[in-house]
This record gives sequence, C-alpha cells and structure tokens, in this order.
Amino acid sequence: TKLTNDDVRQMCKDLNVKFIRLQFTDIFGVLKNVAITVEQLDKALDGEMMFDGSSIEGFVRIEESDMYLRPDPSTFVVFPWKPREGGVARLICDIYNPDGTPFFGDPRYALKRALAEAEQMGYVMNVGPEAEFFLFHVDNEGRPTTKTHDKAGYFDMTPIDLGENARRDMVLTLEQMGFEIEASHHEVAPGQHEIDFKYADALDMADKIMTFKLVVRTIAQRHGLHATFMPKPVFGINGSGMHVNQSLITLDGKNAFYDPDAPMGLSKVCMNYIAGLMNHADAITAIANPTVNSYKRLVAGYEAPVYVAWSGRNRSPLIRIPAKRGMSTRVELRSPDPSCNPYLALAACLHAGLDGIKKGMTPPPATDRNIYEMTLAERQELGISNLPENLSEALKVLAADNVIKEALGPHIFERFIEAKSIEWDRYRMQVSSWELDEYLEKF
Ligand code: GLN
Ligand code: MG
Ligand code: MG
Ligand code: MG
Repeated sequence: TKLTNDDVRQMCKDLNVKFIRLQFTDIFGVLKNVAITVEQLDKALDGEMMFDGSSIEGFVRIEESDMYLRPDPSTFVVFPWKPREGGVARLICDIYNPDGTPFFGDPRYALKRALAEAEQMGYVMNVGPEAEFFLFHVDNEGRPTTKTHDKAGYFDMTPIDLGENARRDMVLTLEQMGFEIEASHHEVAPGQHEIDFKYADALDMADKIMTFKLVVRTIAQRHGLHATFMPKPVFGINGSGMHVNQSLITLDGKNAFYDPDAPMGLSKVCMNYIAGLMNHADAITAIANPTVNSYKRLVAGYEAPVYVAWSGRNRSPLIRIPAKRGMSTRVELRSPDPSCNPYLALAACLHAGLDGIKKGMTPPPATDRNIYEMTLAERQELGISNLPENLSEALKVLAADNVIKEALGPHIFERFIEAKSIEWDRYRMQVSSWELDEYLEKF
C-alpha cells in the first residue's frame, strides 16, 4: 500500500522529523533539493512550495520562472545517517506550472507519460538495474583522486579494506531506507563495486536509482572515500555500467515476456520488445550514455557493448537474455551507464520497446558467437551495426529518431540536444595530453 499525505504527517511526528528535503531531478540527471522545516509540511503537501525554475539548467526562461513542487507521499523516507532527534526526511516531487498543469521539462513526468502509454496497452514495466561505481581516495585537501589501494577483482574477497567497509555500510543504509538488496560485490576493476537491488516498477526504480546514488556518495564520504558514477574514470580498466534489466507485466500480473511454448521461452511480445530496443538503440545511447566520457566506456575489451546485437548466451552484445524464466524473464540492456538520467533512460527504453510491439517488429537472429572475434564483413553479413562512437554521433541519431524524441517530449528534447551539443563543442576544442604526447615531438 502506498503512503498518503496523512501517513507522511504522522510519520514525521512519530519519527521526530524536523527537516524535509523536497527533491527532484533536472534534465541532466542531477538531484536537486530544497529543505523545509516540518512546520511547512502542510503547505508543501498541498503543492504550494514554489521555486525559481530559471535557476535550474534546462528548465525555463526568467520571464516564466515560477514552478511548483508537488511531493509524492509514497516517496517519503527518513535519512538514516542523520540524527534521530530533529531528523531529516525527503519527498520526491513532481513539477507543475503555475496554471496547475504538469511541467514538460520534468523528467519524472516524461517517465510517467511512457508508463501511461504502456498501461493503455495493458502493461506495467518492471526494472532491475545493476549500477557500478568506483571508490577512490581523496587527497590531503579532500579532493577526489582516481587512486585506490584496493587490488581486488570480480567477486573477490579481500581482507576487509576501506572499500569493503564502506560498501557494507551502504547496503545497511539502503536496507534501512526500504531497499531489498539482492547482491553486492566487488567488480572487475580495482576499486570498482556493484550493488544490485530487487526489481520494482519503473517509476519507483527511477526514484530508487537517484536515492541510491545519493546514498553511495554520502556513505563513501563518511568513510573518507569518493564514490563516482563517472562511466570511465580510468583508462585501461573496465568502466562503470548500469545494465537495465526490464520486463513487461500484464495488468493481471503475468510476465508478458514469458511463453513456455515459444523458442527460448520468449514470447512474441518479448521478441517485439527486443526488436524495438535494437531499432532505437542508437538514439537511446544519447540518453543512456549522455556524457563525453560515456563513449570511452563503449569500446572493445572492457565488457561494455559496442555492437547492436542480442543473445541468450554470451555477454558481448548490447542485449542479453538472462537464463531465468517464468516471472523472472527479462531483457538486459547493457549499454546504459550510471551518468544517465534514469527517468529519461527508462522512458526511452519503454517507448522503444512499445514501438516494437505496436509495429510487430522482429529482431534479427540471436548472435551466440563472440562478436569481437568477427571480421567487419562477417558483422555486415549478419546486419550487426556499431553503437554511436561519440556523443556528437549519438546526438545526431537522437535528433532523427521520432520515437525517442516523443519519449522526451519537445521541451526536454530541445534543451537536451542544445546543452549536450555545447558540452561536445567544449570538449572537442580542448587539446588533450594524449595529443601532446602523440604529436608535440613528432611534428
Ligand atoms: N563494467 C562492465 C560495463 O561497463 C560490466 C561488467 C559486468 O557486470 N560483467 O558494462
Ligand atoms: Mg551484475
Ligand atoms: Mg557488473
Ligand atoms: Mg548484468
């Protein structure tokens, strides 16, 4: 059962909450918040809290800057790392225009629109993410470095080091905040970790991903470490991905991707969904891999996808179908990285999958061979294309994909392309140390 406004009022009293943070996420995936005291709670729950939308990147111009926050009571949670007396809680908010209509620049609203469309077609979207991150040391001034003393690798048990302690604390904190943690382990690269939590419906999960990143960063800091979700912080070792496991559940609670009588146990709806994801994969990349740095991760040799293909068995392609069937039948998209805005990334995936269903798309045959060992000619014969190689390429494909454009809505679409094009331009004008090393003496 979902919490109501009255539940929130009662819990604030029972739990001695003094401050409430009203949170929302901007277009670029950055968590924003304004703190109010519990005395202002009624006003906030009535949706009367105003903020200046022109101060948030990508929102509105100065002359139309009043925006309203409407807290979603079901997102109420107390921050366990804050004092028990005079505690701090948060509420995630939807954003409304002064005339009472939902704001089209609100990423949470973009996801809600996608979910409403899915519901009309008879589906609920479930999502289980696998977010990876690095824990690094800070220098004497407290600034983050890319140094780690940890030498562990995938699933390693190390003598308890700083990172292990921090990760355990993260898991405990997340559990206190209502997360069901399924697994947490050391990842392949030194200093790299992963924490997986139980799937939930897409809106709840997008909220959870934002909360997760806040918790991981906060707890790392309390252990004197810096946590980063930057996709590729160190050259030459694995980057951090955020695989998105996704499935559609029918309104009567059945997994729409499972059909015991179909090949591989995958229903027609599942095949359509896979085809939709593949069809829009390049445009999704702009949303799911939205930084210049994201594309340093999407290269061969580091367990990140490079080619648009799917497989039931091997892990090299963009889309993998994990072995479990029945209610656990799902499609794992391996391209997203944790620098993405989860509301927009999930909205984009869902629109792509639904498009596949609406148009009855069929995916190419599954690729069970290692694509990295194929020649270009072999890949071409099998119709296997490459994901965009950089942010600029990805933005061009996004601009031409009407389904993903529709997923974002015109407001977010325009602001996203504009801001990200500027980001790309700022990057491409730089002269990097790689270039100096390569050319300074040679020419
Ligand atoms: N770190 C890899 C990536 O970039 C994934 C590794 C794994 O989970 N097997 O996606
Ligand atoms: Mg994993
Ligand atoms: Mg992993
Ligand atoms: Mg995975």
